[in-house]
Parts: sequence; C-alpha cells; structure tokens
Amino acid sequence: MLDYIIVGLGLSGIALSRRLEERNKQFIVFEDGSQKSSLVAGGLFNPVILKRFTLAWNANEQMQIAIPFYKKIEAKLQTRIVHSIEIYRKFFSAEEQNNWFEAADKPMLSEFLDTRLVKDINPNIPSDFSFGRVRQTGVIDTDVLIKEYRNHLKTINKIQFERFDYSALQINEDSINYNGISAKHIIFCEGFGLQSNPFFSYLPLQGNKGEYITIYSEELKLKVAVKSSVFIIPLGNNLYKVGATYDNQDRNPQPSKRARIELEEKVKKLLTCSFEVIDQSAGIRPASKDRKPMVGRHPKYKNLYCCNGFGSRGVLISPKVSADLIAYIENKIPLPQEINLNRFSKKHFPS
Ligand SMILES: Cc1cc2nc3c(=O)[nH]c(=O)nc-3n(C[C@H](O)[C@H](O)[C@H](O)COP(=O)(O)OP(=O)(O)OC[C@H]3O[C@@H](n4cnc5c(N)ncnc54)[C@H](O)[C@@H]3O)c2cc1C
Repeated sequence: MLDYIIVGLGLSGIALSRRLEERNKQFIVFEDGSQKSSLVAGGLFNPVILKRFTLAWNANEQMQIAIPFYKKIEAKLQTRIVHSIEIYRKFFSAEEQNNWFEAADKPMLSEFLDTRLVKDINPNIPSDFSFGRVRQTGVIDTDVLIKEYRNHLKTINKIQFERFDYSALQINEDSINYNGISAKHIIFCEGFGLQSNPFFSYLPLQGNKGEYITIYSEELKLKVAVKSSVFIIPLGNNLYKVGATYDNQDRNPQPSKRARIELEEKVKKLLTCSFEVIDQSAGIRPASKDRKPMVGRHPKYKNLYCCNGFGSRGVLISPKVSADLIAYIENKIPLPQEINLNRFSKKHFPS
C-alpha cells in the first residue's frame, strides 16, 4: 500500500511531493496537463503588494521557508530555478513617492522597501517620477521547475500522465483504492480543476484568468523587473514577459485577443523603443473567496485532502502550506485556522 496519491503537479503538487520525498513516503502523482497556471506564471517572489505598499499575507515567514526550499530542489534536480532579480516600482505621482517612504518606516516593511529612489532606470522607460526598489526579490523559473520535476518523478516511477477519474475512487475506512492502487491518503492539488472534483467542489474557488505576452526587443536592454501598469520581466536573449492580466469572468483557457490588445497598449505606454510580440500564454489562477489558501481534510472522508487556493502568490505560499498539511496528516499538528478549509465546510456539512 502507498502512503499517498497526489492529483495534480503544479506548484502545490510539487511542494507536497517534495515534502513526501523528504519523509521517505511512498506516493504516486496523477497529472493530465489540463491546467496551466503554474506553467505560465511569471514566477516572481516579492513580499510587497505594489499597489498599496503593504506586506503580502504572511510573506515574511513564507520567504524564509520558500527560498531555501527551492534551493534544495535546485540541488536535487541539478538545474537552476532560483534567479535573483531586482524589482522596481515606477511611481506616478509625488504622493506615491511619499507613500513609499511612509510604508518603509513601518517595522515589517522596512527591510523590503529601499528608500534610495532611482531617477533613471533605463533610457527606454522614461518617467516624470522616480522608481523604488523592493529588496529580496527574484523569480522561480516555474517552467523549468515543472518540466524537471516531472522528469525526476518519471525516472523514479512516481507519476502517471493521465486524468484522475473521480468516479473510480473507492473510499474505505482507513484507505482509498484507485484502479488497483491502494493508498492511505489522497491529496487533491488540481488548481482551478478543483471545480470538477465532486468531493471538494463545494469550496468557494474563484478562478482568475491571467495572461502574459512575450516581447522581443534588441534596444531595451533591461536587466531588472519593472512594475508600472504591468510588470515587465527580463527573460534573457532580448526577451521579456509582460503582464499579467486579471479576469474573473473568462473561463476559456486559451489566450485571448482582448488581453493581447490590453497588454500591447500598456507596454507601448511604458516603453519608447520598438518591440515585437512573439508569444502569448494564459492560465487560470485558483483563488479562494477570502484570498487565503484552502487546505486540509474533507469534512466527511478523513483520508481525502485538498491543497488549493493559492491565487496569485503560489510561489511563496506552496512551500509553507505543504509543510503545514503534511505535518497535520503525519504528526497531527493543527493547521493554522486561517488556511484550514473547514472554515467553508459548516454550511455544507453541518456537524
Ligand atoms: C498569468 C499568471 C501569472 C502568475 N504569476 C505569478 C507570479 O509571478 N508569482 C506567483 O507566486 N504566482 C503567480 N501566479 C499564480 C500561480 O501560478 C498560482 O498560484 C499557482 O500556479 C497555483 O498552483 P496549483 O498547483 O494550485 O495549480 P495549477 O498550477 O493549476 O496546477 C494544478 C495541476 O493539476 C492538474 N490537474 C487538474 N485536474 C486534474 C485531474 N483530474 N487529473 C490529473 N491532473 C489534474 C493540472 O493539469 C495542473 O498541472 C500566476 C498565475 C498566472 C495565471
């Protein structure tokens, strides 16, 4: 009998699989390629919400866990996935600059907001005001992480590339059975695919479609990420990711013309140099109603679990909450209440 079945290998499934490998647990992953959120993500880790200059939820603690976690994966897979990259926020008014200084005075934010503002960042990104740098930022190359981690699991025979068929799941008192595979526990990490999961579809999952365009520009020569009305993130070889969009109505997983026009217009306002759009990608962020992860045990079936609801911050959230979930299952350490999915269960499963 296996210890775990994991459904889905995005950022959530990868973090959980790593936690299980660390504990020498026996597991198998099912992955069908139906969701793309982790694959197309910008991969930025940044503890500050750049709209309001506030600290993102639990970002300080998440950063301390996430970066060493990804470095260990780098060492294990012998490939580079963590890239330090500076992020600069473009200011649109003197008032915004003042707000930055005010925020930088706050104890939790002072280590992240650099008060030495920069006037010129790049000749092709003119601005009437300055730019503020966020410290301790970077990018996780989620594309490389996912591809390499899939290969790793394939080599050790721990992944099946197929759709998990919910109707074939048999739930017993102390185990589950799926097409001849027995396991003690199953953890669902399907991202927005959770809406098709009959056991957890009662959770208030709110998809938010995000799109990027990739541009090519020989003139730009930008080495840092810049946040204006959009992010522009250097990829190397004169390529840059520009985005992302936010749309909580569109459920079509394909890139849209509307997003391409929106992003092209924004980047034209940001840059004075020429560029060419060479690619576009889309994914649906799995967000929860209260913007916190939805993690924990099914209210009725004690060997079914869910690890979802990372919204737009999966890079920093997944290493921490995966550790919380496995410690809860294996060591009975209570989950932090703010991420426990039981906050949504009472209405559907009154005790
Ligand atoms: C455009 C965009 C930009 C983003 N930028 C950032 C960023 O810069 N920084 C950041 O931290 N976050 C970012 N995010 C958010 C981040 O991508 C998400 O928080 C994260 O990817 C969610 O991971 P997940 O594993 O929960 O879901 P997903 O990535 O959706 O993974 C779920 C996996 O489950 C699989 N699956 C689903 N159903 C089944 C089934 N029945 N059987 C088998 N497999 C199944 C899917 O194929 C998929 O691989 C961005 C998202 C988007 C869309």
